Amino acid sequence: MSAVLVFFDAVDGSLSSGQQELLTLAASLGEAHVVTGAADPSEALAFDGVEVVWTGESEISAPDPALVDLLETAVRESGADVVLGTDSADSTDALARLAVRLEAGLITDAVGVDGDASSGATSLTVHKSVLAGGYTTSAQVTSGPAVITVRPNSVEAALSAGAAPEVTALPVSASSSGVEVLGRTELEASERPALTEARVVVAGGRGMDGNFGPLEELADELGAAIGASRAATDAGWIDHAAQVGQTGVTVSPQLYLSAGISGAVQQRAGMQTAQTIVAINKDEDAPVFEIADFGVVGDLFEVIPQMLEELRRRKT
Ligand SMILES: Cc1cc2nc3c(=O)[nH]c(=O)nc-3n(C[C@H](O)[C@H](O)[C@H](O)COP(=O)(O)OP(=O)(O)OC[C@H]3O[C@@H](n4cnc5c(N)ncnc54)[C@H](O)[C@@H]3O)c2cc1C
Repeated sequence: MSAVLVFFDAVDGSLSSGQQELLTLAASLGEAHVVTGAADPSEALAFDGVEVVWTGESEISAPDPALVDLLETAVRESGADVVLGTDSADSTDALARLAVRLEAGLITDAVGVDGDASSGATSLTVHKSVLAGGYTTSAQVTSGPAVITVRPNSVEAALSAGAAPEVTALPVSASSSGVEVLGRTELEASERPALTEARVVVAGGRGMDGNFGPLEELADELGAAIGASRAATDAGWIDHAAQVGQTGVTVSPQLYLSAGISGAVQQRAGMQTAQTIVAINKDEDAPVFEIADFGVVGDLFEVIPQMLEELRRRKT
């Protein structure tokens, strides 16, 4: 079976859901090999189907350009014709540089990959969601190697726990020149799932009128991440990191609940690939209803408390 090399720019204790999805995808295409600059990733990668793990001789953290040396060496060692990564900025940055080195094609933000890596990268068809999620394009890889980043929530993760894999250190170390990391600021820890990887996102817009309290309660009840429209982030009601859309983040959850958001095309660009969209808006002509699977015409300050009541009743 041919190797499919999976790149993780960071491994923090346990794999994120996006990383688990990527491993599932790799195993469906061929033999999953992992390469990461993280120190000691073995425990986090203890899943059946993770055949080989490559690291550097020392920890190599993004955006160190030595990550590209590590990737290139791992491609050579594994003989992989297909390299997959998550859609994070650091991962895409390193993989784009790798693609230049290998003179390979790069496809970012894929929502699906089909094929059989044992027949080489040219057997692969890669799907992307484009034009604000209005169309899905399918591209046939015509020459290998292929380097592909995959959007979270595009694949159902299906991994079973296994023995911690053996880790092989390749002769690549962190570079002492090129990039100097002057400092790192940890993001405030949150109990909520990461917005780009969450299975459920509840998002609020100008209709929240400065009060995200009801939405926060709903997020707690559903184990959801909180998103927002640009009107809400520009108003300072919620951090800019929560903005979903063309100039914010792209999410593809199983459920996207939109409250008090009109559904402008720039907002749709970031959420239209959600599997199920529920919209609450008091204007029955709001454009969001054109893409909603379920719509509630009503005042969100009346609708959300009723949803909460029903959710809590069903839990007891
Ligand atoms: C270059 C560019 C990039 C952009 N990028 C983004 C982006 O990334 N993401 C983004 O979201 N926007 C983006 N925008 C802005 C976008 O065009 C819209 O202006 C924005 O999405 C509107 O936000 P909104 O739907 O919250 O506000 P509005 O359009 O004002 O809609 C508010 C909605 O709330 C409803 N409402 C009000 N009160 C209630 C209530 N009590 N109960 C129920 N419903 C209620 C109203 O009926 C209305 O439909 C961008 C614009 C440009 C030009």
